[in-house]
Amino acid sequence: MRPIILAAVAALLSGVAASAQLGPLVATPAATDMKLGKLRLTALRDAAANAPNDAKVFGVDTGPAAVEAVLAAAGATPGQISLSVNTLLVRMPGHVVLVDTGYGAPRGIMLDSLARAGVAPAAVTDILISHGHGDHVGGLIDADGKPVFAKATVRMAADEWTAIQAAPANAKLVAGITPQVKTFVAGAAVLPGVASVDLSGHTPGHSGYRITSAGQSVLAIGDMAHSYIVSLGKPDWAMGYDRDRKQGAERRRSVLATEARTEELIFSPHFPYPGFGHVVVAGEGFAWQPQPGLTAK
Ligand SMILES: [Zn+2]
Repeated sequence: MRPIILAAVAALLSGVAASAQLGPLVATPAATDMKLGKLRLTALRDAAANAPNDAKVFGVDTGPAAVEAVLAAAGATPGQISLSVNTLLVRMPGHVVLVDTGYGAPRGIMLDSLARAGVAPAAVTDILISHGHGDHVGGLIDADGKPVFAKATVRMAADEWTAIQAAPANAKLVAGITPQVKTFVAGAAVLPGVASVDLSGHTPGHSGYRITSAGQSVLAIGDMAHSYIVSLGKPDWAMGYDRDRKQGAERRRSVLATEARTEELIFSPHFPYPGFGHVVVAGEGFAWQPQPGLTAK
């Protein structure tokens, strides 16, 4: 249990958590399987938190009252915006793939969840990075800056790697993972049955990943949307975390419209764990339908 306690304490003590008044993390390791064609997808829990309704991230243009109305209409707890941190494990012939790595220890518990899935870090062959924010790449290195997944190729869009390297705060991360990094042009195929999807806007090289098997597919959307209530209900609202807020909102609207029309399975790192489900049109926006019948182990 020690990692879980450490995760909670670290979150409470961190400046981000304190300034954002995040609720205490109550996250236990979890791995949830879902079949896709001939593949086994597994959602791994890394963290759970509540963002406050302070108009710094959600409702930056509309204010907290408008956000509150959206939360109330969805029956959510007033004043709190639920944000999970989930990562995706995909076992395919010849490859053990992770999509993002979560915060990393001690704040994140993804490694404990990975153990529940029966996979050792050294068995991971490929890591597909959506973008370079700490809740997606933090788990790539340990506290000493050493790679956690020593045998994995770390794949991301070339524009994202350029952006990560340009930020001085990433020096430790860059030093640790540079020998593992292999970049691709946004939208390129990255592995057999896996194509990247250009979702730039949140960050310069932000990528989704579409994984296909036996005629079925899932789109891992990264941070194209954050809150299953606010981001889906009001996709056109500016998102404080988006580097390019206009492009981010346009992507959100167009990708969600396509996903609702095609009824493609979605995996979201920030929707409620395990993050598998579908979007449907609801009023002027969209609503989340979690995949039913999944059980965590
Ligand atoms: Zn994120």
